[in-house]
Amino acid sequence: MNAAPTLPPSANAPRVWEQFQPATSVVRRQRRIPTRSTVARERVELAQAQLADCHLCLHHCGTNRLAGPSGRCHAGANARFFAAQTDVSDELELLPSFAVSLSGCNLRCDFCITGGPSWNPRAGSDLDAARLADRARDALVQGARTVMILGGEPTIHLPALLELVAALPDDACLVLKTNACFTPSARPLLAGLFDVWLPDLKFGNAECADRLAAIPHAADYWNTVTNNLLWMAAEQDTAEVIVRHLLMPGHVDCCWEPAARWLSQHLPAAKVSLRTGYWPAWHAARHPELRLPLARTELNRALALANECRLNLIP
Ligand code: SF4
Repeated sequence: MNAAPTLPPSANAPRVWEQFQPATSVVRRQRRIPTRSTVARERVELAQAQLADCHLCLHHCGTNRLAGPSGRCHAGANARFFAAQTDVSDELELLPSFAVSLSGCNLRCDFCITGGPSWNPRAGSDLDAARLADRARDALVQGARTVMILGGEPTIHLPALLELVAALPDDACLVLKTNACFTPSARPLLAGLFDVWLPDLKFGNAECADRLAAIPHAADYWNTVTNNLLWMAAEQDTAEVIVRHLLMPGHVDCCWEPAARWLSQHLPAAKVSLRTGYWPAWHAARHPELRLPLARTELNRALALANECRLNLIP
């Protein structure tokens, strides 16, 4: 019997927080450029204007969200949030993190662990940036290392996301957790604001993206996300990139392998967070292969592939 593959040595490397300073604020001060909060505030109006003809994500709905909820995400002009709490369940080096989860998403992942509020932009409470920022400040004082903004999908609420960034302390280590399905029109409004990008590379091919998350082939999931990963990595002088992949049963060959090989070739130094705790949540039972947790044999194969690709896995 083969021995179980082990995590590569890089998994034992210093955690990002031990080597990492909140680069955005430090670099901005050194270069005498406007603070993060100032930049974010200046971008709110531009982001608001984009809602009038929304092409913020790969669905390119072209609807007027200022007139009311519309488009595939069913989001309007105002954002809500369904959770804001100190979280200890993400990447170890980012924890504890004060995490704010915005309601609503542009994808329809049947295996979503927070499917109800993630799919529903009307879930939760109105987003009050100043109040959330006060709570984030309290959490930081109490020992939170980072502030994380996530969803649903936070980038579909770009104006509210920018308002929240503008309200947060400039020296907070700010993490954006995203499905990375935003378009180039969103990039200039997101650029330079985050200390850590935490994007998902969920699917390795268009067929799985379509079947499991209702992303039509024409939306070009793979190229949209991988181009965004390359764009995030280009911010490496001011930001860290941690690429996440949820390992799903029956999807090692079709999703993890293409993702691992692409990362190996194009972002060999990127940190990779292989999420191995899949649980059949939400509408997962619609798909026979997703009805059970991950088998040990699949986990071993996935880790062997990571070793073969010399990926920089982090816990
Ligand atoms: S964010 Fe995406 S899904 Fe929502 S309306 Fe805009 S283009 Fe459509």
